[in-house]
Amino acid sequence: MTQVNLLAISPTEFVKWLKSCNIHRFHLALDQKNGQVMASHKELQSLADFINNDKRDFMGHEGLFFQVSEKHETLQGAFVHRTCRGQAAGGVRYWSYDTMEDYLRDGMRLAKGMTRKNALAGLWWGGGKGVMAHNPDQVKTDPALREDIYQDYGRLLSDLRGCYVTAEDVGTHVVDMANVFATSRFTTCIPAALGGSGNPSAPTARGVVAGMEAALEFAGMGTLEGKTVAVQGMGNVGSPLIGFLFEKGVSKVVAADINESLADNLRAALDGLLTEDQELETRIVAVGNHDILAEECDIVAPCATGAILNPATIPTIKARIVCGASNNQLEDAARDDAALFAAGIVYVPDFLTNRMGIVNCANEAYGYVNNDEFIERHLERDWQHSVFRTTLQVLETSRTGGLAPARTAMNLADDFSLQPHPIFGHRGVRIIESLLEDRWFENA
Ligand code: NAD
Repeated sequence: MTQVNLLAISPTEFVKWLKSCNIHRFHLALDQKNGQVMASHKELQSLADFINNDKRDFMGHEGLFFQVSEKHETLQGAFVHRTCRGQAAGGVRYWSYDTMEDYLRDGMRLAKGMTRKNALAGLWWGGGKGVMAHNPDQVKTDPALREDIYQDYGRLLSDLRGCYVTAEDVGTHVVDMANVFATSRFTTCIPAALGGSGNPSAPTARGVVAGMEAALEFAGMGTLEGKTVAVQGMGNVGSPLIGFLFEKGVSKVVAADINESLADNLRAALDGLLTEDQELETRIVAVGNHDILAEECDIVAPCATGAILNPATIPTIKARIVCGASNNQLEDAARDDAALFAAGIVYVPDFLTNRMGIVNCANEAYGYVNNDEFIERHLERDWQHSVFRTTLQVLETSRTGGLAPARTAMNLADDFSLQPHPIFGHRGVRIIESLLEDRWFENA
Protein backbone atom coordinates (compact mmCIF):
# COMPACT_ATOMS: atom_id res chain seq x y z
CA MET A 1 0.00 0.00 0.00
CA THR A 2 1.37 3.44 -0.87
CA GLN A 3 1.99 5.62 2.16
CA VAL A 4 -0.32 8.68 2.23
CA ASN A 5 1.39 12.00 2.96
CA LEU A 6 -0.96 12.97 5.77
CA LEU A 7 0.41 16.51 6.01
CA ALA A 8 -0.36 17.31 2.39
CA ILE A 9 -4.00 16.21 2.28
CA SER A 10 -6.93 18.37 3.34
CA PRO A 11 -8.60 17.85 6.72
CA THR A 12 -11.64 16.45 4.88
CA GLU A 13 -9.51 13.89 3.04
CA PHE A 14 -7.78 13.16 6.32
CA VAL A 15 -11.13 12.44 7.98
CA LYS A 16 -11.91 9.95 5.19
CA TRP A 17 -8.51 8.35 5.68
CA LEU A 18 -9.07 8.08 9.45
CA LYS A 19 -12.40 6.40 8.83
CA SER A 20 -10.76 3.92 6.46
CA CYS A 21 -8.38 3.07 9.33
CA ASN A 22 -11.30 2.87 11.78
CA ILE A 23 -9.82 5.67 13.92
CA HIS A 24 -12.33 8.01 15.54
CA ARG A 25 -10.11 9.71 18.10
CA PHE A 26 -6.35 10.03 18.45
CA HIS A 27 -3.66 12.07 20.13
CA LEU A 28 -0.16 13.37 19.56
CA ALA A 29 1.20 13.80 23.08
CA LEU A 30 4.54 14.76 24.55
CA ASP A 31 6.26 11.99 26.46
CA GLN A 32 7.48 13.99 29.48
CA LYS A 33 10.33 11.52 30.05
CA ASN A 34 11.99 11.53 26.66
CA GLY A 35 10.64 14.84 25.31
CA GLN A 36 9.29 13.21 22.17
CA VAL A 37 5.79 13.55 20.74
CA MET A 38 4.17 10.14 20.40
CA ALA A 39 1.06 9.22 18.41
CA SER A 40 -1.70 7.14 19.94
CA HIS A 41 -1.83 5.03 16.75
CA LYS A 42 1.18 3.81 14.79
CA GLU A 43 -0.53 4.86 11.53
CA LEU A 44 -0.27 8.47 12.75
CA GLN A 45 3.36 8.49 13.83
CA SER A 46 4.32 10.50 10.72
CA LEU A 47 2.35 13.45 12.17
CA ALA A 48 4.16 13.09 15.50
CA ASP A 49 7.50 12.99 13.65
CA PHE A 50 6.62 16.17 11.77
CA ILE A 51 5.86 17.94 15.05
CA ASN A 52 9.02 16.64 16.72
CA ASN A 53 11.09 18.10 13.90
CA ASP A 54 9.25 21.41 13.65
CA LYS A 55 11.09 24.48 14.89
CA ARG A 56 8.48 27.11 13.97
CA ASP A 57 5.19 26.31 15.69
CA PHE A 58 5.93 23.44 18.06
CA MET A 59 7.13 24.57 21.47
CA GLY A 60 6.86 21.59 23.80
CA HIS A 61 3.08 21.33 23.43
CA GLU A 62 1.90 18.92 26.10
CA GLY A 63 -0.78 17.22 24.06
CA LEU A 64 -2.88 17.52 20.93
CA PHE A 65 -6.19 15.64 20.95
CA PHE A 66 -8.49 15.01 18.02
CA GLN A 67 -11.74 13.45 17.00
CA VAL A 68 -13.97 13.19 13.97
CA SER A 69 -17.39 14.56 14.86
CA GLU A 70 -20.14 11.96 15.15
CA LYS A 71 -22.07 13.62 12.30
CA HIS A 72 -20.87 15.90 9.46
CA GLU A 73 -17.33 14.48 9.24
CA THR A 74 -15.62 17.45 10.86
CA LEU A 75 -12.11 17.24 12.28
CA GLN A 76 -12.07 18.68 15.81
CA GLY A 77 -8.95 19.34 17.83
CA ALA A 78 -7.92 20.47 21.30
CA PHE A 79 -4.36 21.83 21.29
CA VAL A 80 -2.91 21.95 24.80
CA HIS A 81 0.28 23.96 24.91
CA ARG A 82 1.35 24.52 28.49
CA THR A 83 -0.55 23.96 31.73
CA CYS A 84 1.91 25.07 34.43
CA ARG A 85 -0.30 28.04 35.42
CA GLY A 86 -3.53 26.04 35.15
CA GLN A 87 -5.82 24.34 32.67
CA ALA A 88 -5.10 25.23 29.05
CA ALA A 89 -7.55 28.01 28.12
CA GLY A 90 -8.33 29.57 24.76
CA GLY A 91 -11.14 29.75 22.24
CA VAL A 92 -12.25 27.25 19.61
CA ARG A 93 -11.79 28.39 16.03
CA TYR A 94 -14.00 27.09 13.21
CA TRP A 95 -12.04 27.72 10.06
CA SER A 96 -11.08 26.36 6.63
CA TYR A 97 -7.70 24.76 5.99
CA ASP A 98 -6.18 23.55 2.73
CA THR A 99 -3.87 20.96 4.26
CA MET A 100 -3.34 19.08 7.49
CA GLU A 101 -0.04 20.85 7.88
CA ASP A 102 -1.83 24.23 7.86
CA TYR A 103 -4.38 22.90 10.35
CA LEU A 104 -1.79 21.54 12.79
CA ARG A 105 0.42 24.61 12.50
CA ASP A 106 -2.47 27.01 13.16
CA GLY A 107 -3.56 25.06 16.23
CA MET A 108 -0.03 24.92 17.68
CA ARG A 109 0.65 28.60 16.91
CA LEU A 110 -2.64 29.79 18.41
CA ALA A 111 -2.30 27.58 21.52
CA LYS A 112 1.17 28.98 22.18
CA GLY A 113 -0.23 32.50 21.74
CA MET A 114 -2.86 31.81 24.40
CA THR A 115 -0.23 30.59 26.87
CA ARG A 116 1.50 33.94 26.40
CA LYS A 117 -1.63 36.07 26.53
CA ASN A 118 -2.89 34.35 29.70
CA ALA A 119 0.51 34.44 31.43
CA LEU A 120 1.11 38.11 30.66
CA ALA A 121 -2.35 38.87 32.03
CA GLY A 122 -1.38 37.15 35.29
CA LEU A 123 -4.28 34.70 34.88
CA TRP A 124 -4.00 31.31 36.53
CA TRP A 125 -4.66 29.56 33.27
CA GLY A 126 -2.39 27.72 30.90
CA GLY A 127 -2.70 28.08 27.15
CA GLY A 128 -4.55 26.08 24.56
CA LYS A 129 -6.74 26.39 21.53
CA GLY A 130 -9.51 24.47 19.85
CA VAL A 131 -9.58 24.17 16.08
CA MET A 132 -12.37 22.69 13.99
CA ALA A 133 -11.70 22.36 10.29
CA HIS A 134 -14.67 23.34 8.17
CA ASN A 135 -15.69 20.50 5.88
CA PRO A 136 -16.52 22.22 2.55
CA ASP A 137 -19.19 19.58 1.87
CA GLN A 138 -21.20 21.04 4.75
CA VAL A 139 -23.08 24.35 5.03
CA LYS A 140 -21.26 26.08 7.85
CA THR A 141 -24.12 28.41 8.76
CA ASP A 142 -26.73 25.65 9.14
CA PRO A 143 -27.93 25.91 12.78
CA ALA A 144 -28.65 22.17 12.97
CA LEU A 145 -25.12 21.35 11.81
CA ARG A 146 -23.64 23.78 14.30
CA GLU A 147 -25.68 22.35 17.13
CA ASP A 148 -24.40 18.86 16.30
CA ILE A 149 -20.75 19.70 15.89
CA TYR A 150 -20.46 22.00 18.91
CA GLN A 151 -22.23 19.49 21.13
CA ASP A 152 -19.84 16.88 19.84
CA TYR A 153 -16.96 19.19 20.59
CA GLY A 154 -18.23 19.43 24.17
CA ARG A 155 -18.18 15.62 24.38
CA LEU A 156 -14.53 15.68 23.35
CA LEU A 157 -13.78 18.22 26.10
CA SER A 158 -15.64 16.18 28.72
CA ASP A 159 -13.59 13.13 27.79
CA LEU A 160 -10.40 15.23 28.02
CA ARG A 161 -11.26 15.72 31.71
CA GLY A 162 -10.49 19.43 31.85
CA CYS A 163 -6.94 19.66 30.57
CA TYR A 164 -8.38 22.16 28.04
CA VAL A 165 -11.15 24.70 28.71
CA THR A 166 -12.62 26.32 25.64
CA ALA A 167 -14.06 29.76 24.80
CA GLU A 168 -15.34 31.75 21.81
CA ASP A 169 -13.05 32.47 18.87
CA VAL A 170 -13.14 33.31 15.17
CA GLY A 171 -16.00 31.43 13.49
CA THR A 172 -17.60 30.50 16.83
CA HIS A 173 -20.47 32.46 18.35
CA VAL A 174 -22.03 32.67 21.76
CA VAL A 175 -24.91 30.37 20.73
CA ASP A 176 -22.30 27.75 19.77
CA MET A 177 -20.85 28.02 23.26
CA ALA A 178 -24.27 27.15 24.67
CA ASN A 179 -24.07 23.94 22.62
CA VAL A 180 -20.62 23.14 23.99
CA PHE A 181 -21.94 23.83 27.47
CA ALA A 182 -24.81 21.39 26.88
CA THR A 183 -22.30 18.54 26.81
CA SER A 184 -19.33 19.82 28.84
CA ARG A 185 -18.56 21.96 31.84
CA PHE A 186 -15.12 22.73 30.41
CA THR A 187 -16.09 25.93 28.66
CA THR A 188 -16.33 29.66 29.32
CA CYS A 189 -17.95 32.46 27.26
CA ILE A 190 -21.38 30.89 27.55
CA PRO A 191 -24.44 33.15 27.07
CA ALA A 192 -25.35 35.48 29.94
CA ALA A 193 -28.70 33.66 30.28
CA LEU A 194 -26.78 30.50 31.23
CA GLY A 195 -24.55 32.29 33.71
CA GLY A 196 -21.93 33.58 31.27
CA SER A 197 -20.18 36.94 31.35
CA GLY A 198 -21.66 38.58 28.25
CA ASN A 199 -20.08 40.60 25.48
CA PRO A 200 -16.40 41.42 26.20
CA SER A 201 -15.98 44.14 23.54
CA ALA A 202 -16.24 47.19 25.83
CA PRO A 203 -13.71 45.77 28.35
CA THR A 204 -11.44 44.95 25.40
CA ALA A 205 -11.64 48.58 24.30
CA ARG A 206 -10.76 49.70 27.84
CA GLY A 207 -7.69 47.46 27.71
CA VAL A 208 -6.60 49.19 24.51
CA VAL A 209 -6.99 52.60 26.19
CA ALA A 210 -4.76 51.39 29.05
CA GLY A 211 -2.14 50.23 26.52
CA MET A 212 -2.23 53.63 24.80
CA GLU A 213 -1.76 55.45 28.11
CA ALA A 214 1.29 53.33 28.92
CA ALA A 215 2.78 53.90 25.46
CA LEU A 216 2.26 57.67 25.76
CA GLU A 217 3.95 57.69 29.15
CA PHE A 218 6.82 55.59 27.80
CA ALA A 219 7.27 57.94 24.84
CA GLY A 220 7.19 61.02 27.13
CA MET A 221 4.06 62.26 25.37
CA GLY A 222 1.90 62.82 28.44
CA THR A 223 -1.74 61.69 28.48
CA LEU A 224 -4.47 61.12 25.92
CA GLU A 225 -5.77 64.65 26.46
CA GLY A 226 -5.53 66.70 23.29
CA LYS A 227 -4.23 63.82 21.17
CA THR A 228 -5.33 62.71 17.72
CA VAL A 229 -6.06 59.02 17.24
CA ALA A 230 -6.75 57.13 14.01
CA VAL A 231 -8.94 54.06 14.50
CA GLN A 232 -9.26 51.35 11.88
CA GLY A 233 -12.65 49.68 12.32
CA MET A 234 -15.80 50.94 14.03
CA GLY A 235 -17.03 47.49 15.04
CA ASN A 236 -17.60 45.90 18.44
CA VAL A 237 -14.30 47.15 19.86
CA GLY A 238 -13.59 50.22 17.70
CA SER A 239 -16.87 51.96 18.55
CA PRO A 240 -16.65 51.81 22.35
CA LEU A 241 -12.93 52.59 22.07
CA ILE A 242 -13.72 55.87 20.33
CA GLY A 243 -16.25 56.75 23.05
CA PHE A 244 -13.69 56.04 25.79
CA LEU A 245 -11.04 58.10 23.99
CA PHE A 246 -13.31 61.14 23.89
CA GLU A 247 -14.06 60.62 27.60
CA LYS A 248 -10.29 60.75 28.15
CA GLY A 249 -10.15 64.11 26.38
CA VAL A 250 -8.66 63.32 22.96
CA SER A 251 -9.21 66.22 20.61
CA LYS A 252 -9.72 64.29 17.40
CA VAL A 253 -10.53 60.78 16.23
CA VAL A 254 -10.35 59.83 12.58
CA ALA A 255 -12.10 56.50 12.11
CA ALA A 256 -12.47 54.28 9.06
CA ASP A 257 -14.72 51.34 8.29
CA ILE A 258 -16.01 49.57 5.24
CA ASN A 259 -19.53 49.64 6.65
CA GLU A 260 -21.32 52.99 6.45
CA SER A 261 -24.06 52.15 8.94
CA LEU A 262 -21.48 51.67 11.71
CA ALA A 263 -20.22 55.23 11.18
CA ASP A 264 -23.82 56.52 11.31
CA ASN A 265 -24.50 54.56 14.52
CA LEU A 266 -21.35 55.89 16.15
CA ARG A 267 -22.15 59.49 15.24
CA ALA A 268 -25.63 59.04 16.68
CA ALA A 269 -24.24 57.46 19.88
CA LEU A 270 -21.80 60.33 20.41
CA ASP A 271 -24.26 63.07 19.48
CA GLY A 272 -24.13 65.82 22.11
CA LEU A 273 -21.35 64.13 24.09
CA LEU A 274 -18.33 65.81 22.47
CA THR A 275 -17.05 69.16 23.64
CA GLU A 276 -16.48 72.10 21.29
CA ASP A 277 -12.81 71.16 21.06
CA GLN A 278 -13.44 67.58 20.04
CA GLU A 279 -13.96 66.25 16.56
CA LEU A 280 -14.93 62.89 15.08
CA GLU A 281 -14.14 62.36 11.41
CA THR A 282 -15.42 59.14 9.83
CA ARG A 283 -14.40 57.65 6.52
CA ILE A 284 -15.88 54.82 4.54
CA VAL A 285 -13.22 52.80 2.77
CA ALA A 286 -13.03 49.87 0.39
CA VAL A 287 -12.32 46.36 1.67
CA GLY A 288 -8.55 45.94 2.00
CA ASN A 289 -7.89 49.70 2.14
CA HIS A 290 -5.42 50.59 4.91
CA ASP A 291 -4.87 54.32 4.25
CA ILE A 292 -6.03 55.12 7.77
CA LEU A 293 -2.77 53.63 9.09
CA ALA A 294 -0.89 56.44 7.32
CA GLU A 295 -2.93 59.18 8.99
CA GLU A 296 -1.12 62.18 10.48
CA CYS A 297 -1.84 61.55 14.19
CA ASP A 298 -0.34 60.56 17.55
CA ILE A 299 -1.69 57.00 17.78
CA VAL A 300 -2.94 54.49 15.23
CA ALA A 301 -5.35 51.87 16.60
CA PRO A 302 -5.89 48.82 14.38
CA CYS A 303 -9.29 47.39 15.39
CA ALA A 304 -10.37 45.66 12.19
CA THR A 305 -8.37 42.75 10.81
CA GLY A 306 -4.97 41.09 11.29
CA ALA A 307 -1.70 41.19 9.30
CA ILE A 308 -2.08 44.92 8.60
CA LEU A 309 1.43 45.79 9.82
CA ASN A 310 3.70 44.71 6.99
CA PRO A 311 6.35 46.04 4.58
CA ALA A 312 3.67 47.88 2.58
CA THR A 313 2.11 49.73 5.52
CA ILE A 314 4.89 50.21 8.08
CA PRO A 315 6.88 52.78 6.03
CA THR A 316 3.71 54.89 5.64
CA ILE A 317 2.94 55.16 9.37
CA LYS A 318 3.35 58.71 10.69
CA ALA A 319 2.05 58.10 14.22
CA ARG A 320 4.52 57.61 17.03
CA ILE A 321 2.43 54.83 18.59
CA VAL A 322 0.55 51.80 17.24
CA CYS A 323 -1.83 50.27 19.77
CA GLY A 324 -5.06 48.48 18.95
CA ALA A 325 -7.25 45.43 19.53
CA SER A 326 -6.84 43.42 16.33
CA ASN A 327 -5.35 39.98 16.74
CA ASN A 328 -2.09 39.17 14.95
CA GLN A 329 -1.47 42.68 13.65
CA LEU A 330 2.05 41.80 12.50
CA GLU A 331 1.94 39.97 9.17
CA ASP A 332 5.27 38.34 10.01
CA ALA A 333 5.86 38.50 13.75
CA ALA A 334 9.66 38.70 13.72
CA ARG A 335 10.14 40.81 10.58
CA ASP A 336 7.44 43.43 11.24
CA ASP A 337 8.12 43.74 14.98
CA ALA A 338 11.75 44.53 14.12
CA ALA A 339 10.76 46.94 11.32
CA LEU A 340 8.51 48.99 13.60
CA PHE A 341 11.22 49.05 16.26
CA ALA A 342 13.86 50.19 13.75
CA ALA A 343 11.51 52.94 12.54
CA GLY A 344 11.18 54.26 16.11
CA ILE A 345 7.45 53.52 16.22
CA VAL A 346 6.23 52.41 19.65
CA TYR A 347 4.30 49.21 18.95
CA VAL A 348 2.19 47.80 21.77
CA PRO A 349 1.86 44.05 21.12
CA ASP A 350 -1.77 43.10 20.49
CA PHE A 351 -1.73 40.08 22.79
CA LEU A 352 -0.94 42.45 25.64
CA THR A 353 -3.71 45.01 25.08
CA ASN A 354 -6.55 42.83 23.81
CA ARG A 355 -6.53 40.41 26.76
CA MET A 356 -9.81 41.65 28.21
CA GLY A 357 -11.88 39.24 26.10
CA ILE A 358 -10.38 36.26 27.88
CA VAL A 359 -10.09 38.09 31.20
CA ASN A 360 -13.81 38.89 31.05
CA CYS A 361 -14.82 35.24 30.75
CA ALA A 362 -11.90 33.59 32.58
CA ASN A 363 -13.50 33.60 36.00
CA GLU A 364 -17.12 32.97 35.04
CA ALA A 365 -17.31 29.98 37.37
CA TYR A 366 -16.60 32.18 40.41
CA GLY A 367 -19.71 34.34 40.11
CA TYR A 368 -20.19 38.05 39.54
CA VAL A 369 -19.87 41.24 41.55
CA ASN A 370 -20.19 44.85 40.48
CA ASN A 371 -16.89 46.53 39.61
CA ASP A 372 -15.19 43.16 39.90
CA GLU A 373 -11.65 43.69 41.18
CA PHE A 374 -10.47 40.63 39.24
CA ILE A 375 -11.42 42.46 36.06
CA GLU A 376 -10.87 46.07 37.07
CA ARG A 377 -7.31 45.53 38.27
CA HIS A 378 -6.27 44.74 34.69
CA LEU A 379 -7.28 48.29 33.78
CA GLU A 380 -5.61 50.04 36.70
CA ARG A 381 -2.14 51.54 36.74
CA ASP A 382 -0.78 49.87 39.84
CA TRP A 383 -1.50 46.12 39.74
CA GLN A 384 1.71 44.34 38.70
CA HIS A 385 0.03 42.48 35.78
CA SER A 386 -2.25 45.32 34.63
CA VAL A 387 -2.22 46.25 30.95
CA PHE A 388 -0.62 49.58 31.86
CA ARG A 389 2.18 48.15 34.02
CA THR A 390 2.93 45.23 31.72
CA THR A 391 3.01 47.47 28.65
CA LEU A 392 5.42 49.87 30.35
CA GLN A 393 7.58 46.96 31.52
CA VAL A 394 7.69 45.48 28.02
CA LEU A 395 8.48 48.78 26.31
CA GLU A 396 11.19 49.69 28.82
CA THR A 397 12.78 46.23 28.66
CA SER A 398 12.63 46.44 24.90
CA ARG A 399 14.44 49.79 24.89
CA THR A 400 17.11 48.65 27.36
CA GLY A 401 17.63 45.26 25.74
CA GLY A 402 17.48 46.48 22.14
CA LEU A 403 14.94 43.77 21.32
CA ALA A 404 11.66 44.65 19.58
CA PRO A 405 8.57 44.79 21.86
CA ALA A 406 6.59 41.76 20.64
CA ARG A 407 9.68 39.56 21.04
CA THR A 408 10.34 41.11 24.45
CA ALA A 409 6.73 40.48 25.51
CA MET A 410 6.95 36.86 24.35
CA ASN A 411 10.13 36.28 26.35
CA LEU A 412 8.51 37.75 29.46
CA ALA A 413 5.36 35.69 28.87
CA ASP A 414 7.37 32.50 28.41
CA ASP A 415 9.00 33.06 31.81
CA PHE A 416 5.63 33.71 33.49
CA SER A 417 4.05 30.71 31.78
CA LEU A 418 6.38 28.34 33.62
CA GLN A 419 5.17 29.42 37.07
CA PRO A 420 3.18 26.60 38.64
CA HIS A 421 -0.42 27.19 39.72
CA PRO A 422 -0.31 28.14 43.44
CA ILE A 423 -2.86 25.47 44.44
CA PHE A 424 -2.95 22.82 41.73
CA GLY A 425 0.63 22.94 40.46
CA HIS A 426 1.19 21.41 37.05
CA ARG A 427 -2.02 19.38 37.18
CA GLY A 428 -2.77 19.62 33.45
CA VAL A 429 0.15 17.39 32.62
CA ARG A 430 -1.13 14.85 35.18
CA ILE A 431 -4.55 14.93 33.54
CA ILE A 432 -2.87 14.17 30.22
CA GLU A 433 -0.89 11.31 31.75
CA SER A 434 -4.14 9.88 33.13
CA LEU A 435 -5.81 10.18 29.72
CA LEU A 436 -2.97 8.29 28.10
CA GLU A 437 -2.93 5.63 30.79
CA ASP A 438 -6.65 5.06 30.33
CA ARG A 439 -6.45 5.07 26.52
CA TRP A 440 -9.03 7.90 26.36
CA PHE A 441 -9.31 7.57 22.58
CA GLU A 442 -11.03 4.21 22.90
CA ASN A 443 -13.88 5.90 24.77
CA ALA A 444 -15.87 6.84 21.68
P1 NAD B 1 -15.84 43.55 14.38
O1 NAD B 1 -16.01 42.63 13.23
O2 NAD B 1 -17.04 43.93 15.18
O3 NAD B 1 -15.20 44.94 13.86
C1 NAD B 1 -14.21 45.02 12.89
C2 NAD B 1 -14.62 46.14 11.96
O4 NAD B 1 -13.57 46.38 11.04
C3 NAD B 1 -15.87 45.83 11.14
O5 NAD B 1 -16.82 46.82 11.37
C4 NAD B 1 -15.37 45.85 9.71
O6 NAD B 1 -16.32 46.37 8.80
C5 NAD B 1 -14.16 46.76 9.81
N1 NAD B 1 -13.18 46.64 8.75
C6 NAD B 1 -12.81 45.54 8.05
N2 NAD B 1 -11.84 45.86 7.17
C7 NAD B 1 -11.59 47.18 7.31
C8 NAD B 1 -10.69 48.09 6.70
N3 NAD B 1 -9.85 47.71 5.73
N4 NAD B 1 -10.69 49.37 7.12
C9 NAD B 1 -11.53 49.78 8.10
N5 NAD B 1 -12.40 48.95 8.71
C10 NAD B 1 -12.44 47.68 8.32
O7 NAD B 1 -14.71 42.93 15.29
P2 NAD B 1 -14.35 43.36 16.78
O8 NAD B 1 -15.00 42.42 17.73
O9 NAD B 1 -14.53 44.83 16.94
O10 NAD B 1 -12.80 42.99 16.83
C11 NAD B 1 -11.84 43.78 16.15
C12 NAD B 1 -10.49 43.09 16.23
O11 NAD B 1 -10.13 42.93 17.61
C13 NAD B 1 -10.48 41.69 15.63
O12 NAD B 1 -9.22 41.45 15.07
C14 NAD B 1 -10.69 40.79 16.84
O13 NAD B 1 -10.15 39.51 16.62
C15 NAD B 1 -9.90 41.54 17.89
N6 NAD B 1 -10.37 41.25 19.25
C16 NAD B 1 -11.64 41.48 19.63
C17 NAD B 1 -12.05 41.20 20.93
C18 NAD B 1 -13.45 41.46 21.37
O14 NAD B 1 -13.68 41.46 22.59
N7 NAD B 1 -14.40 41.71 20.48
C19 NAD B 1 -11.13 40.67 21.86
C20 NAD B 1 -9.81 40.45 21.45
C21 NAD B 1 -9.45 40.76 20.15
